[in-house]
Amino acid sequence: MLKILLCGFAQETNTFSAFNTSLQDFKNSHYSKKLNLQAPNYYEAPLVAMYQLAQQEQWEIIESLCTYTDPQGKILQHDYETIRDNILNDIEKEQPDIVFFHLHGAMMAEAYDDCEGDILKRTRDALSCDALIAALFDPHTHLTEQMVTYCDIPIWMKEYPHTDAIDRTNELFHIIKNCLANKVKPVISVYDCNMINMYPTSIEPMLSYLSAVKTLEKEDATILSTSIIHGFPFADSADLGTKILVITNNQKIKGDAVAQKLGKELQNIALGQPLITLLSLDDTLSNIKQQSRLTKPIVIADFSDNPGGGAYADATFILDAIIENRMKHCAFACFYDKKTVLAATKAGINTSFTVAIGGKGSDFSGKPILLNVQVKNICNDLIVRFADGDFSYGKSVCLHHEALDLDIIVCSQRTQTYNTECFTKMGVDIKSRYILVVKSSEHFRASFKMISDNIYQVQTPGLLNFDYATRKYRELQRRVVPINAE
Ligand SMILES: [Zn+2]
Repeated sequence: MLKILLCGFAQETNTFSAFNTSLQDFKNSHYSKKLNLQAPNYYEAPLVAMYQLAQQEQWEIIESLCTYTDPQGKILQHDYETIRDNILNDIEKEQPDIVFFHLHGAMMAEAYDDCEGDILKRTRDALSCDALIAALFDPHTHLTEQMVTYCDIPIWMKEYPHTDAIDRTNELFHIIKNCLANKVKPVISVYDCNMINMYPTSIEPMLSYLSAVKTLEKEDATILSTSIIHGFPFADSADLGTKILVITNNQKIKGDAVAQKLGKELQNIALGQPLITLLSLDDTLSNIKQQSRLTKPIVIADFSDNPGGGAYADATFILDAIIENRMKHCAFACFYDKKTVLAATKAGINTSFTVAIGGKGSDFSGKPILLNVQVKNICNDLIVRFADGDFSYGKSVCLHHEALDLDIIVCSQRTQTYNTECFTKMGVDIKSRYILVVKSSEHFRASFKMISDNIYQVQTPGLLNFDYATRKYRELQRRVVPINAE
């Protein structure tokens, strides 16, 4: 009977964040050797999908550690090694025929700039040479030579927002099965696009580009998989940048040509037009004020304070401007502010109190905003769906400011605003809101485009500002072109 070991270890590391990541951060987010098969979270979901596929094949299934935490600075060296070795010990002891990882691809620790490459190399060292190592990654990866060398079947999610983890896991499983039956021999080709950018795939021009990539994959049986690796611009890595990875059935020359062709097409697209349009806050608000009120809410994405990219999620620049402009019927999600959650919980539901919201966490947070608010709702653990898994926001409160009819969702776990459920589950009637402000760069779009035709992505002085050209990339030695948003 074949044996498969399932494990996940993921964080997107923002090396420009002032806060290191600890073992406790992982434990506070998710840290378990038992998969939740009924209601998996986002990082468990592909492992659960692989579990079910393996079950159908009657493989023996070993559950090793699955852990993740939200983006922040580098992981403390000892803490990284502790988590890594926990997984490696299971691999060494169990000697599986297949190891399936859910990794990120942009995880960095003190003394380890390529955590995933390190984990994959040590996994290979711990296994016999005919065992298969397969991994699913996030496209915001720094692709390294170690990853390509020590992973037999690496596949990246194609969509941004990342809604396709299960589709990609199914593809990966299919390749694993064909490998085991000796029907295919995966060979990897890589093309370096030498550029830094972000690539939202649910809007043009990436929508059409990706559709053509998928068609190519479907029509040519020698191409087992293609991955568009976006890169993660908010980290100082020697391997930063956009790359194309193609897996063929033992056709290296063809794979190289396909990777180059797709890479050059992407270069042409990205050099020809901005892929993301970020407006200033002033321009956004004056634009909105010139329009008559729409039937559907307007969405403003606080791009620069997105905790999904490592920001603190308590910046108050937009809240301050909305109050300053006396704009009514707005709602905000999700501020990360444990002190405010605690104060609201102590005050109790329906109680009015004065609190300083946000502006506490980092140099990029702005100033705290003093407001008299009523506690409209308290939720012991706000759980919100994204793609095929759940995210937790911890104890969360909905605060209401009467004069401006303003709702503010404040949470005790630092999590990106993925879904309209961040409002609705806290009792906010989103249809009655003029403007919804969300702390997210792009992942919000999959859900919020269903309820809004008017979405603005706004650049504030947050950690995730888009000015790549002035960011200090000390480790980056390759010539890489930063392509700015408009
Ligand atoms: Zn990502």
